[in-house]
Amino acid sequence: MTQKSSFIAIFPGSFDPITMGHLDIIRRASTLFPKIIVAVADPLHKKTMFTLEERIKLVKESVQGIPNVEVQGFTGLLVDFAKKVGARAIIRGLRAVSDFEYEFKMAWMNRRMYPEVETIFLIPSEEYAYLASSLVKEIALLGKDVDGLVPPPVEKKIRETILGKYKESKGPSLEFD
Ligand code: ADP
Repeated sequence: MTQKSSFIAIFPGSFDPITMGHLDIIRRASTLFPKIIVAVADPLHKKTMFTLEERIKLVKESVQGIPNVEVQGFTGLLVDFAKKVGARAIIRGLRAVSDFEYEFKMAWMNRRMYPEVETIFLIPSEEYAYLASSLVKEIALLGKDVDGLVPPPVEKKIRETILGKYKESKGPSLEFD
């Protein structure tokens, strides 16, 4: 392990879309590590509301002004991406106990495949403890504003696309994970 790689942490996720909860974790991580790479996944078995390009763009616009943060998309195994960029840590956010079982399994499997990388869990500010991208999408698809739940670039995108479409259409479509 090189000295340099020990300073890189990645924060992976679908970010479909990025929420204030994700941003809270990114801010906290950026005070701990000199370099954070937000790794936007192209999930194999998950249908997303926003394309990979849209999700990357929204994350990039949302993290502007936070020091030491870079944004990259990735496909395939997270540990392969971690190796490629020389990351020493994987950051994940933990909300309620319900996140724990899935996160524990993932951390264990990632360690098994790449023992040099540590998974580090951060908890968000209380106000974001129940916030999830899936909730944001449901609210938006039901025609309601999502201000305060997502960063301004995401709010704008949702207003222009989903809320706009909602007004023209008969009703929402909830076809995503
Ligand atoms: P994934 O599909 O990989 O779970 P997400 O974009 O849903 O991707 O989440 C990425 C990471 O951000 C996960 O560790 C998740 O627990 C965390 N996260 C999501 N929402 C919040 C939130 N409101 N507060 C803290 N962490 C969160």
